[in-house]
Amino acid sequence: MEEIQLKVEKAYPIDLGRGIIRLDPTALLKLQLSPGDIVEIRGKKKTTAKVWRADRQDWEQGIVRIDNFIRQNAGVSIGEKVTIKKVEAPEAKKLILALPESMIQGGPELQFGEHANEIIKRHILKRPVFRGDIIPIINSMSQPMTESLTTSQVIPLVAVETDPANTIVLITEATSIELRKKPVQGYEKATRGVTTYEDIGGLGQEIMRVREIIEMPMKHPELFGHLNIEPPKGVILHGPPGTGKTLIAKAVANESGASFHYIAGPEIVGKFYGESEERLRKIFEEATQDAPSVIFIDEIDSIAPKRENVTGEVERRVVAQLLTLLDGMEERGQVVVIGATNRVDAIDPALRRPGRFDREIHIGVPDTNDRYEILQIHTRGMPIERDEEVGNGGEAEIEADEATLERERKEKTNKYLMYLAERTQGFVGADLLALVQEAAMRCLRENLPDLDLEKEPVPPERLEKIVVTKKNFEDALME
Ligand code: ADP
Repeated sequence: MEEIQLKVEKAYPIDLGRGIIRLDPTALLKLQLSPGDIVEIRGKKKTTAKVWRADRQDWEQGIVRIDNFIRQNAGVSIGEKVTIKKVEAPEAKKLILALPESMIQGGPELQFGEHANEIIKRHILKRPVFRGDIIPIINSMSQPMTESLTTSQVIPLVAVETDPANTIVLITEATSIELRKKPVQGYEKATRGVTTYEDIGGLGQEIMRVREIIEMPMKHPELFGHLNIEPPKGVILHGPPGTGKTLIAKAVANESGASFHYIAGPEIVGKFYGESEERLRKIFEEATQDAPSVIFIDEIDSIAPKRENVTGEVERRVVAQLLTLLDGMEERGQVVVIGATNRVDAIDPALRRPGRFDREIHIGVPDTNDRYEILQIHTRGMPIERDEEVGNGGEAEIEADEATLERERKEKTNKYLMYLAERTQGFVGADLLALVQEAAMRCLRENLPDLDLEKEPVPPERLEKIVVTKKNFEDALME
């Protein structure tokens, strides 16, 4: 059987959690594949995905697009190579799923409720699965009110057992699905943070730089050693609030398999005498033990303002401590401090000297296309009103290509999201998230009066009728 090697790139935002791989026509031809076929993907590990066609701008680039979960299942990251070949997957008689241990403790709980198996099955129907795979379930039932919607939307389940075993299997109506009570171990790192590059709309160039500066040295210190270049200790992300600075930092940590340590600037300086320095020291110590690590200091200007602006003794001591800690860091590249600020010129210049925070990346306000991507991300898994289904009737059925139908359905929603993107100039990511949540809340309020909440839970047939309408969005926009 023919196989080819291709370079891994991140998935399109709307593809997150859908278990698909995007291939260009050249690869499809070479491997004799059509959309909907199943492939084996081999990196350090073996996994599987369903084939979809790549968008035109990706043709002839020698790349595949797979999401963070498939990348983890294949044991690869962006920029690395995977080997692809076509496989025939027998129908699964049985699939046993379990939650990773890390998700039980403090992670988002399974909120599928009584209809769990049904809901899960609907998500993974016609998908190929290989034992050991992480299968993300995008949970549209979860409360849209949680603070970080992006991370709570996705619930990763692990395929702990399949029948038949030792082969890639296909989930069908006939597959019996079992949710094991006991969590699985060994996926702590893989599901530590579920923030991925697919959760970030726009910022393509910025992500590329962050990857070069942070991810590369963490993963390939030998390269930097060989070329005798020093990986950075500190990077400043600067730009208006709500543009995705924290998001990028979390994503780069997750994608590099690094631990994430968060420091809120204002909180640190608000401590009692001596406590602030102690706290900083502690976090640096933990991060060093936990390396590779990302230490994220939000609103770093509050810790280390320009000295001429410094009024308090506390700030002066905290800056001194931070400088000492930075200068004392020896694990070059394995521990990286990312500082975020709205105004880069408000930071103590001593912090920006070589060997300290010597790289700066500007995170700007999104343009129309970026806003469109961000809207797609935040409405992922959300039922939205579509334009009238224009039936091309029989033809669609004859073609029976699920991928095409799905794409058509998506395009109808997308047209409206594009229209919204055009009308939301000046909105940053956080504003767009708020807009989507407000629209969803309006939808909820509208539906509440005729829901029988005494008889919980709301049955699936009723749930299906609840969709966020364009009017909900229009009203939310008027707020
Ligand atoms: P910052 O750190 O720049 O103030 P955050 O990263 O905390 O902003 O953004 C707050 C929230 O807004 C994020 O959790 C995310 O849900 C949303 N958001 C912001 N920027 C983006 C983006 N570029 N793409 C997708 N979501 C975004």
